Amino acid sequence: MLEEFKLNQPIAYKIISNTLNNKHYAHAYLIETNNYVDAFKLVMTFAKLLLCPNYHDGQPNCQNCMQCQMIDDHNFPELKIINPDGNWIKKEQLMELQEEFNKKSIIGNKKIYIINKAEKLNVNSANTILKFLEEPQEGIIAILVTNNLYQLLETIISRCQIISLNGQAQFLENKTTYQKIGRLITDNEDDYQNFINDENNQEKIKTIIKFINYYEKNHLKVLLYMNDYWFNYFSDKENISWAILIIIYFYKDVLNYKINCPVEIFNDYLEEIKKIAKLNEIASLVNKIKILNENRQYLDNNANLNLLMDRIIIQMEEGELC
Ligand SMILES: [Zn+2]
Repeated sequence: MLEEFKLNQPIAYKIISNTLNNKHYAHAYLIETNNYVDAFKLVMTFAKLLLCPNYHDGQPNCQNCMQCQMIDDHNFPELKIINPDGNWIKKEQLMELQEEFNKKSIIGNKKIYIINKAEKLNVNSANTILKFLEEPQEGIIAILVTNNLYQLLETIISRCQIISLNGQAQFLENKTTYQKIGRLITDNEDDYQNFINDENNQEKIKTIIKFINYYEKNHLKVLLYMNDYWFNYFSDKENISWAILIIIYFYKDVLNYKINCPVEIFNDYLEEIKKIAKLNEIASLVNKIKILNENRQYLDNNANLNLLMDRIIIQMEEGELC
């Protein structure tokens, strides 16, 4: 069941199987569909696996239990799907949902509600959802599904674990890209030198490199420790912008090392550079730099700063798996 998404949606597959295997559930998930055609099927599979009592340690779900059958027949009482009523998802729909969910579960100990097309929440209904998310109830899991993350309130987004689906894979790795990246980076040259040479920034740089190391060793798991490794140090726009730039330059140096060019900036961190060079192919370093660069540009628009870093990690991982 979940297996059928393994190839097309490696990241979602990994996040969902980790969630199920560790039984470490978020109160709310936000699935960003990116026009993936089977997105809703994936969402339903996820919901079903959360509710099926026969899911144990990576074993696929049973299909035969009462829960699974009732879900397939669309009459499982503890799973509710909210679709827009006309143009909007209305507050009344959510109030009704709440009333139902206030009752004790008839079957099992979990209740799930799926909000499909969550970008259709209007001001009233968005605030109602926000209230649910702010005061999560034991055993109730929300799954919001949207094709347009940025139409949702940031306050909603920040309370959900995001699972971003692959739309179309976008990869480029060739000489031209490398040259382009080289140019992009040189454009910022003056900025970075001041920053890197400043005595006061040495601790920050150390922290950033520690973060990169941790990420390179643990991949997606780093998302669980973002507070310790990242948000405690980098929370405002200016700092994050610098931090991302430092990461870019660091990977650039790893790339330099990998292609036998001199390390330009981080000579003090040569051991780390060697380690990370071993863990990465050239193409994957190029891809990481590209992703970091692109996302750094979002900073000036609308991005929720906490999500931005999660997003970067997930995008970098997507590059790894393909
Ligand atoms: Zn089952």
